[in-house]
Amino acid sequence: MVGLADCNNFFVSCERTLNPALENRPVVVLSNNDGCVVARSNEAKRAGVKMGQPAFQIKERIQSGEIIAISGNHLLYRDISLHIHDIFRRYAPKTLDYSVDEAFLIMEGIPASSLREIGEAIARNCWDEVHIPVTIGFAPSKTLAKIVAESCKKRGRRVGVLQAAESARPVIEKMSISDLWGIGRRLSKRLYAAGIYTIADFADRDLSWIRATLGINGERSWREIHGEDCIELAHVESSMQDSISESRTFPEDVDDYDWIRARVAIYAADCCRKLRAMRGECKTLGVWLETNRFHTDRALSHPQGTVHFGLHTNDTVAVCNAAIRVLDTIFLPDVPFKRAGVWLTDIVPSEAVMPSLFDSQEFLHAKNLRRHLMKTVDRINLSPGAPVIRLASQITQGHPGHNDGYSSSFQAPKK
Ligand SMILES: [Mg+2]
Repeated sequence: MVGLADCNNFFVSCERTLNPALENRPVVVLSNNDGCVVARSNEAKRAGVKMGQPAFQIKERIQSGEIIAISGNHLLYRDISLHIHDIFRRYAPKTLDYSVDEAFLIMEGIPASSLREIGEAIARNCWDEVHIPVTIGFAPSKTLAKIVAESCKKRGRRVGVLQAAESARPVIEKMSISDLWGIGRRLSKRLYAAGIYTIADFADRDLSWIRATLGINGERSWREIHGEDCIELAHVESSMQDSISESRTFPEDVDDYDWIRARVAIYAADCCRKLRAMRGECKTLGVWLETNRFHTDRALSHPQGTVHFGLHTNDTVAVCNAAIRVLDTIFLPDVPFKRAGVWLTDIVPSEAVMPSLFDSQEFLHAKNLRRHLMKTVDRINLSPGAPVIRLASQITQGHPGHNDGYSSSFQAPKK
């Protein structure tokens, strides 16, 4: 049997852990730059706010206080996500992390009769430890587990167990084919044209027709609906992001080395936070500067440099020091710069970083201590706004823009 554990209204639930006043209110979380709705509380769903709806369409309702809108705090979501996935791992012999708020639980060797109790324990722990509501569906295949979890959510249940594929019949007769995992809007249009409207219609077709019409992915979905677990996560999910970058345009042209150095340190520290949040380590760092491209009287200058670390790292101190060393090699005195950026690449998952044969015990111990230090710093820095703990190199005074020197609150003045 396979379980799908899925957090309810995840981003909103995360925000509620910091601010209980959001409880029982229509709350939406907005995407980067507050463009559109990326998460809704149940109350916001009932108030008719749509997923992906542009924020300007509900502007008046936000201004009147009817709907509470929050800018996403993705570092917070990442941190809670890691904790939630750790809880899942305690109960399932094997898990496949599917997204920030969802994981498949591979329950090999666990009797079906104890699944409900296990599901209840997971949901209870997620609530007690991190205050996140979670729904869990168990079924013979991943696709059916998703369907069970979905229908539990609709009925306000925490856990559902589907023993046999046939028992899903009443549910899939009512579910639109467009809600079937792996069937996009484009494919569902093609299926409507062939007279397939519900998941049950899909299941009733001959496998040979499905295979001829939708290929191997359609065939897998069909088999899954019939209770055969055959979708591997590798079929649906791409691997880890292979680079991370941070860059900003300055409010004005700047030739002050100390000020630019602080910017580079801030971007490097932000990249490291993201890198640790995705549990990765990098081997290559790059820094670039750019002069103002709108000054036609001067040639555009775009110096850049990279450095390779001997060992993979996600340590803010090591990465910031390296970024400043690179900056020193590319910085040009008396040249006013308008933009700067830092990127990290050659990223691998932390658990794939093997200690070298030549690493001493002391070295490994020191590295472990640094990991704990970074983890602690990340937890303290979770609240939105400028990080509480930062390196001295991230701080300068008397610089243009009158911001506090931290990139998240860095706003170039309007022209
Ligand atoms: Mg979810």
